[in-house]
Amino acid sequence: MKEVLLLKCGEIVLKGLNRKKFEDRLLGNIKRRLKHIGDCTVTMRQSVIYVEIPEGVDGDAVMDAVLKIFGIALICRAAVCEKTLESMQATAESYLADRIADAKSFKVETKRGDKRFPMTSVQVSQHLGGELAEKYKHMKPDMHHPELTIHFEIRDQYAFVHPGPVQGAGGMPVGTNGRAALLLSGGIDSPVAGYMMTKRGLELIGIHFFSYPYTSDRAKEKVFELGRKLTAYCGRMPILVVPFTKIQEEIRDKCHEELFTLIMRRFMMRIAEKLAIQYECGGLITGESLGQVASQTMPAMAVTNAVCETLPVFRPVIGMDKEEIVQIARKIDTFETSILPYEDCCTVFTPKHPNTKPKMPKILEAESHLDVEALVDEAVQNTERVIV
Ligand code: ATP
Ligand code: MG
Repeated sequence: MKEVLLLKCGEIVLKGLNRKKFEDRLLGNIKRRLKHIGDCTVTMRQSVIYVEIPEGVDGDAVMDAVLKIFGIALICRAAVCEKTLESMQATAESYLADRIADAKSFKVETKRGDKRFPMTSVQVSQHLGGELAEKYKHMKPDMHHPELTIHFEIRDQYAFVHPGPVQGAGGMPVGTNGRAALLLSGGIDSPVAGYMMTKRGLELIGIHFFSYPYTSDRAKEKVFELGRKLTAYCGRMPILVVPFTKIQEEIRDKCHEELFTLIMRRFMMRIAEKLAIQYECGGLITGESLGQVASQTMPAMAVTNAVCETLPVFRPVIGMDKEEIVQIARKIDTFETSILPYEDCCTVFTPKHPNTKPKMPKILEAESHLDVEALVDEAVQNTERVIV
């Protein structure tokens, strides 16, 4: 039996004149994400996107991939049939056989997109509902709280049968709001932050600070794996690997221990902003959550934020509890990778008593012992770009 996914768009429908641009982007995203699964045809007619699943292609895999594509509000997985009552009934009986066997009550709902079809939608529902009730006596008609609703959609070329829509990923198509750079550590929070901004239509570039030999290749590989998991939602994501060892050693040798983390984070933001501009990003994303650690108090964040000169910094998990972040991490399948026990560059020289109420003059004084500009430029120059 031929299957198809009928996709109804979400917020993009609201976008007036930009709508065409949004729809084209969404179609392109869908095609790209399905390419490795099989040769599905993706087309759009009257605000509905059709994904035709050819024989031999795994429909479950197509469905799984589509569930992760932002910009889609509803998904109906349907069987295709001829536009005759006989074909529609026979297709419903075989396509929904399991559900029909289980259901104690049902109703039929019909949508008639093709107004040339000789019966109204109410007439079709009544006719097919009657036939099915007659044949499957265990299933009582129930117009208010049916266990099973059998949907028939009669469109231009074909009719479709399905058991009702499921919720899509929502959000906006990736890329329609531009590109941003995600500071991606090996932790739980930053992949979730990336996922959340991707949902708002941002394409991502990952930036990872790497401190060999203090952090191992396994730690780097773990970050790549997190990036790979995110690509299920954001499509392609290059990761920029920034060599960070020299900077950390300089800070350790020349600055007071209690300021180590803050000065390090200021370096991260400076470097990230430079790289982001170089890669045409319009913003930075971090996984900071207020009060979670010493470097995420308000005064600490004021000090880190102060080095960002042009780009906005998005912190989508700033108001979330760890447990809420973990829940999303589980949903997007990054959690198990995030909790692998490899060290992160942040933890390497963590001070025993970090300063949670830093004063700017003290920070600036400490940084005056470092050649900030040269260190930043060197790190930017030696950054490596990896496609995961
Ligand atoms: P996460 O769980 O994402 O690691 P965290 O709670 O451990 O976050 P920090 O280590 O203070 O918090 O880092 C705060 C944010 O700074 C991270 O969410 C991430 O965006 C960024 N960051 C930290 N370490 C790195 C790194 N090695 N490379 C890139 N970004 C980093
Ligand atoms: Mg971390």
